[in-house]
Amino acid sequence: NLEVGIVGLPNVGKSTLFNAITKAGAEAANYPFCTIEPNVGVVEVPDHRIQVLTDMYKPKKTIPAVMRFVDIAGLVAGASKGEGLGNKFLSHIRETDAIAEVVRCFEDSNITHVSGSIDPLRDIDIINTELCLADIETVQKRDDRIKKIAQCGDKEAKTEDAILMKVLSCLEIGNPARKASLTKDELDIIKDLNLLTLKPIIYIANVAEDEAGHPNDNPYVKKLETFATEEGAKVVAVSAKIEAEIAELPEDEAAMFLEELNLPEAGLDKLIKASYSLLGLINFFTAGADEVRAWTIVNGTKAQKAAGKIHSDIERGFIRAEIVSYNDLIACGSETTAKEKGLVRLEGKEYIMRDGDVTYFRFNV
Ligand code: GDP
Repeated sequence: NLEVGIVGLPNVGKSTLFNAITKAGAEAANYPFCTIEPNVGVVEVPDHRIQVLTDMYKPKKTIPAVMRFVDIAGLVAGASKGEGLGNKFLSHIRETDAIAEVVRCFEDSNITHVSGSIDPLRDIDIINTELCLADIETVQKRDDRIKKIAQCGDKEAKTEDAILMKVLSCLEIGNPARKASLTKDELDIIKDLNLLTLKPIIYIANVAEDEAGHPNDNPYVKKLETFATEEGAKVVAVSAKIEAEIAELPEDEAAMFLEELNLPEAGLDKLIKASYSLLGLINFFTAGADEVRAWTIVNGTKAQKAAGKIHSDIERGFIRAEIVSYNDLIACGSETTAKEKGLVRLEGKEYIMRDGDVTYFRFNV
C-alpha cells in the first residue's frame, strides 16, 4: 500500500489534519492486510468506478484502493542532529513513498508560530535544511565505502561515486536532491539510499476556515504555488479545521456542508488525487462474484508485475491476463457481452497496464 508521511513544523495544523484523516478513514476491520498503528490513518481512494463494478458484479465484498497516511511529528530545527528525537522521525520518513508537508498559511494571533510569524517559504526552508543534512550524512557514509572500491578500479563504483558527488554538491548548497537533475539510470543506481529529499513532495497549505472556498486569495498560497512549480512539487490548499468538521459529519451532511462552503470536494480527496498525480499512479480492478477490488500501480507497470500486487505466486506463475477496459465493460453491460463482442483481450506479461483495466490473471501454481 501506498504510504504518505505527513510532516511540518509544530503548530501548523498537522494533528488537526491527521485527526480528520483518521476519522474519515476506513474501518480498520475491513483492512486485515494493513497493519494500523496509532500514527497511521488509512483512507479509501475515491474512485466512482468501484461502485459501478459492485452494482454489476454484486460481489460478497468490495475493497477500494487505500492510501496510508503516517503522522510524522517532531520534525523541528536540529532534527538531523538528533535533537527532539528527530533522527527517529527522519527514519520514519525514509520508509514512505511521498511526503506531504503541512505549512501554515492561516493567521491566528492566539496560536503561536514556532518562528514567530507566518512565512511558509521560511518554514519549508527549515524542514528542507534538516532533510538535506540527513541526506548529506547518508550520501557521505555511502561514498566513504564506494570511493575505496572505486580506487581499486571498479567501474560501477566509479559511476556511483560520480553520482553521489553530484548529489552531494546539490545538497551542500541547501537544495533537495530532487533538484540535482539526475537521469533515470542515475536515480536507479542510488535508489536504495532512500534519500529523503528525492521523495516526491506535496505542500499542504493550511488556510483559515473562511478561505477554504477561495484559497488562491491567500497571498501565501500564491507564493507557495510558484515555489512548488519550480521544484516539480504540488500544492493542495485545505483548511485543516474544516476538514476536521467534515470528518465528523455523515456523508450527506458533509456534501451539503461542502456545497455551502463552495468547495467542489473535501480537502482529503484533493490530497489523494494530488498524490496519485504526483506519483503517477493508476488503478486497475479485479472483479468477480466473490470480490470487486481496486489495486494501485505506477503508470507504466507491466502485466506480470501488476499481478505481483495481488500475490507473488500469481506474478511467478503468470501465464496471461484477460483484460477488458472499464469503459468497454460498462458499455457492454456485462462481462459475457464484452466477451461476445471480442472486447476481452488476452495480454502477455509485457503488456503495459492501463487505468481502469478490469483484469483476470491466469497463472500456473
Ligand atoms: P501541529 O502541532 O502541527 O500538530 O498543530 P495542531 O493541529 O495541533 O494545530 C495547532 C493549533 O492550530 C490548534 O489549536 C488548532 O486548532 C489550530 N489550527 C489548525 N488548523 C487551523 C486553521 O485552519 N485555522 C485556525 N484558526 N486554527 C487552526
